[in-house]
Amino acid sequence: MNHLSAEVAIVGAGPAGLTAAIALASAGVETALIARPPTGSDVRTSALLEGSVRALDALGVWRLCREHAAPLRVMRIVDDTPRLLRAPEVCFAASEIGLDAFGHNVENRFLVAALEARAGELAALKRIEDEVVAVEIADGQVTIRCNGGAALSARLAIGAEGRHSLCRAAASIDMRGRSYPQTALAFNLGHSRPHHDTSTEFHAEAGPFTLVPLPRRRSSLVFVVDPAEVARLSLLSDTEMAAEVERRSHSMLGKIEVEAPRGVFPLRVETAVRFGAGRVVLIGEAAHVIAPIGAQGLNLGLRDAATIGELAVAAHRDGHDVGEVSDRYDRMRRADATSRMLAVDLLNRSLLSDFLPLQSARAAGLFLTDRIGPLRRAIMREGVMPWAARPRLMRGETL
Ligand SMILES: Cc1cc2nc3c(=O)[nH]c(=O)nc-3n(C[C@H](O)[C@H](O)[C@H](O)COP(=O)(O)OP(=O)(O)OC[C@H]3O[C@@H](n4cnc5c(N)ncnc54)[C@H](O)[C@@H]3O)c2cc1C
Repeated sequence: MNHLSAEVAIVGAGPAGLTAAIALASAGVETALIARPPTGSDVRTSALLEGSVRALDALGVWRLCREHAAPLRVMRIVDDTPRLLRAPEVCFAASEIGLDAFGHNVENRFLVAALEARAGELAALKRIEDEVVAVEIADGQVTIRCNGGAALSARLAIGAEGRHSLCRAAASIDMRGRSYPQTALAFNLGHSRPHHDTSTEFHAEAGPFTLVPLPRRRSSLVFVVDPAEVARLSLLSDTEMAAEVERRSHSMLGKIEVEAPRGVFPLRVETAVRFGAGRVVLIGEAAHVIAPIGAQGLNLGLRDAATIGELAVAAHRDGHDVGEVSDRYDRMRRADATSRMLAVDLLNRSLLSDFLPLQSARAAGLFLTDRIGPLRRAIMREGVMPWAARPRLMRGETL
């Protein structure tokens, strides 16, 4: 049997795992990235906020996907509910806080291809393409066992394998959360009118309907609906779906052409009770699953990757055991992840709720945000660069 070793092992090569692998290996830490071969293509796009773009730039990834990304200069929230207490339309412009753009939207297939290409340039990064079947934690090391019989030992294991994390289970870390009575449909579309670098989130009673710019006259759509509605919508032809999108977006983007494929994602919110324990840390959706509202999920995952990269590289350079950073990592990531999850959960539940005081609190919050410039700017700054999490990569510094 093939037994390998590395200083750090990462399980899962989604965008979070790949970013952590690049951060570590480009700073000279011997890293192994173990992941199943990719299956099918990801239809999702990622609206990456400015800090995420800076981190990808500092890691040499952004240059490889920038041409496929569209800037997000304005974000609009439109209350599209038929309710008595409707919120005013709120518009956030990046120029109000001195930025050219809040971030960029890029299709996940281009982002992952850029991460893969950069990972392929790093001599300190070992790749193992296999399914991980067991994670064993001992005193001085973690052993990862693969389906094909290979085993790898490392001082630190990073669980980046998404919702069903074996690293999380091996470290006996529980997840807390619940499902929402909502499902997201996600697909891309072409349109006859320009989007003017503006993302528009229509708040409907079943959830948000969000159009985010892609390069030229294309946008991505995340369409949150009642699960009972999914069957009907899935049966629509592309032409019928285009008419549905045009109606729901009030023809704002003109004539719509729906692109295949379409993705369906039941919505959940889940957080690990700890983000690290012993020689295991969790990043990305292995640590937190969040509804696709306000573009938070992968931005959080990239801040996880940047933080563990910074801690493990510092430990490696100081000659310390990289397996001893998990408590510090947990403390550093908790406030950021918890505050984002709470904000998204509250916003989503205020949409779903028939409870009048909650609806009026939401309408009042959006009204104050619209009217009070300093409040609006503080919200924008916090959205782009959270006070609780500013790892070096997010500030554009290398490790
Ligand atoms: C509709 C939708 C729209 C979204 N839009 C945005 C957005 O605009 N901005 C944003 O920031 N976030 C967004 N998100 C969230 C974002 O897509 C996720 O946070 C992100 O894709 C999670 O990446 P990850 O690397 O943590 O996990 P994953 O992408 O799930 O990667 C996990 C990897 O681990 C591998 N793996 C799992 N188990 C094993 C095993 N046992 N052995 C080997 N390999 C394994 C898997 O094959 C996979 O490759 C959106 C989500 C949805 C549903």
